[in-house]
Amino acid sequence: MDESSVDERPPVSGETRLTAVIGDPVRHSLSPCLMNAAFAETGLDWTCVALEVPEGRASGALEGMRALGIAGLSVTMPHKDAVASGVDDLTPVAAALGAVNCIVRDGESLVGHNTDGAGFLDGLRHDAGFDVSGRRAVVLGAGGAARAVVHALGLAGAVEVAVANRTIGRAVTAADLAGAAGRALEPSSVGEAVAAADLVVNATPVGMAGAGAGHPVDPGLVAAGAVVVDLIYHPAQTELLAALRGRGVEAHNGLSMLVFQAANAFTLWTGVEAPVAAMDAAARAALARR
Ligand code: NAP
Repeated sequence: MDESSVDERPPVSGETRLTAVIGDPVRHSLSPCLMNAAFAETGLDWTCVALEVPEGRASGALEGMRALGIAGLSVTMPHKDAVASGVDDLTPVAAALGAVNCIVRDGESLVGHNTDGAGFLDGLRHDAGFDVSGRRAVVLGAGGAARAVVHALGLAGAVEVAVANRTIGRAVTAADLAGAAGRALEPSSVGEAVAAADLVVNATPVGMAGAGAGHPVDPGLVAAGAVVVDLIYHPAQTELLAALRGRGVEAHNGLSMLVFQAANAFTLWTGVEAPVAAMDAAARAALARR
């Protein structure tokens, strides 16, 4: 054994604090990669693993978290809603969304947070220097990601948050999350709203690897000065992003939202500022291997 390996701290010891991501499927999750990069960069003796928890077993996972003293959990599909009703307390954001993506231990209490919306806004600021206050946004989709984005845009002072979804009833429910700024779009008014928007967000899986190609909206409708975020990050460039960039429109993928929601969770768990650059680099390296 050479000297350098004697000096190295073992990757996991009796002191190591455990965190995990729960979901099903979960093996593809980038959370362990992002979090372990952050623990390594900050020198914290913490680790993160992926735990496959089948649908219907979220309350068992929460009991496990309590019994095992797990320091923090990330929560992904299909458990975000079930966990919201199983934790001891919810932040106002998680309560409004009825969905939790991050559980923080506060003494004996498990507190459910939702960092997706804050992660989206942080990513938007990072990628585009975009401040949503006073701006008009269109969100395509009304699922979990869309709802977090709509809520965050409303809180951050967007003057209009228009939601377009193929199931109009879900668009109405999602738009309510933006308060007075929210409105649901009839199919006939989507084009006009997109053309008038400062920010367009794709929160549908249209364009995602494995979900079939295509555009969630006609890219030609987007104003030249608008900013577009496609929440998809695999592939790194969807057909929508390629078409917009071809026209010179500023367009970003969802990687920054992914990184910043994890960065927010990291800080909530550890109280330490997240090493965002290291997390971003780890996510890019993992995606490049796919
Ligand atoms: P979700 O809850 O299943 O919602 C999907 C939404 O997309 C629904 O509104 C659905 O409409 C709509 N949709 C699905 N297929 C469609 C199609 N073929 N044409 C038009 N609309 C369609 O999913 P989610 O968790 O919100 O995720 C949505 C996207 O965001 C995914 O691509 C996901 O990878 C991405 N995402 C990214 C991040 C990130 O950190 N970057 C985080 C979360 C999610 P109906 O209501 O009519 O079913």
